[in-house]
Amino acid sequence: MKYLRSIFMMLVLLGPLSLSARTSSEAPLQVKPRHKSGSSAITKKLKQIPPVEPFLTAQAKATIHPPSDLPHIVIDPGHGGEDYGTYSIKSPKYQEKLLTLSSAMMLKRFLNQMGYKTSLTRKDDSFISLEDRAAIANNLKPTLFVSIHYNSAPSVEAEGVEIYYYKNDDSRRRVTKSKELAHDVLKRVLNATQAKSRGVKHGNFAVIRETEMPAILIEGGFLSHPDERSRIKNPTYLKQLAWGIALGIDDYVQKNN
Ligand SMILES: [Zn+2]
Repeated sequence: MKYLRSIFMMLVLLGPLSLSARTSSEAPLQVKPRHKSGSSAITKKLKQIPPVEPFLTAQAKATIHPPSDLPHIVIDPGHGGEDYGTYSIKSPKYQEKLLTLSSAMMLKRFLNQMGYKTSLTRKDDSFISLEDRAAIANNLKPTLFVSIHYNSAPSVEAEGVEIYYYKNDDSRRRVTKSKELAHDVLKRVLNATQAKSRGVKHGNFAVIRETEMPAILIEGGFLSHPDERSRIKNPTYLKQLAWGIALGIDDYVQKNN
């Protein structure tokens, strides 16, 4: 075993180097087994080594900055995975995490059609911590950050759309810009959805507090309000909301470019 392991280590160390010497003009490089003996422990181990190219791609992706002339929006679908957000397992069933993901996908499509570059903090039903969501945005350095949520309250009377921004004294410019974005988006969302307005508010939420660019958190309506819940469960409402957010973002960008 010891002998096999040292041969394996030699192949790992020498493999990519010797390949790169032979194929310096060719990309991508792949570490491939040298022989086809399927039962060999070395072959098995070599097969477990990921190809070089995906690793390099991941490394390169982490350092790519979006072109500065193309507004880049990071869209954050609230919750995901084991974090359901607000939900009901009894009829009428709903899960905030799925509604936020649908809304985010629609918003992404609209923004892309309008010529924006977009990134999502999650593309599927996976759990991403609040810190990681902010870190993803801070690494990408987008123009704006938009988090999408749906609301819930103990009172079934609570109804309407509200948009939060984070207020502090350290980054006055970011506060002003976030507030302006919140107003622009709320105006267009109300127009598109005909929802009730609960206004623009200060909120101390991690994703809008820890991000470094203008950032807002949209509460797109109350799932605890029976009428609003049936509207939200209709994809037309999600589409209207996403369209309103896209128009609001565009209003903001046109003024600030
Ligand atoms: Zn939420």
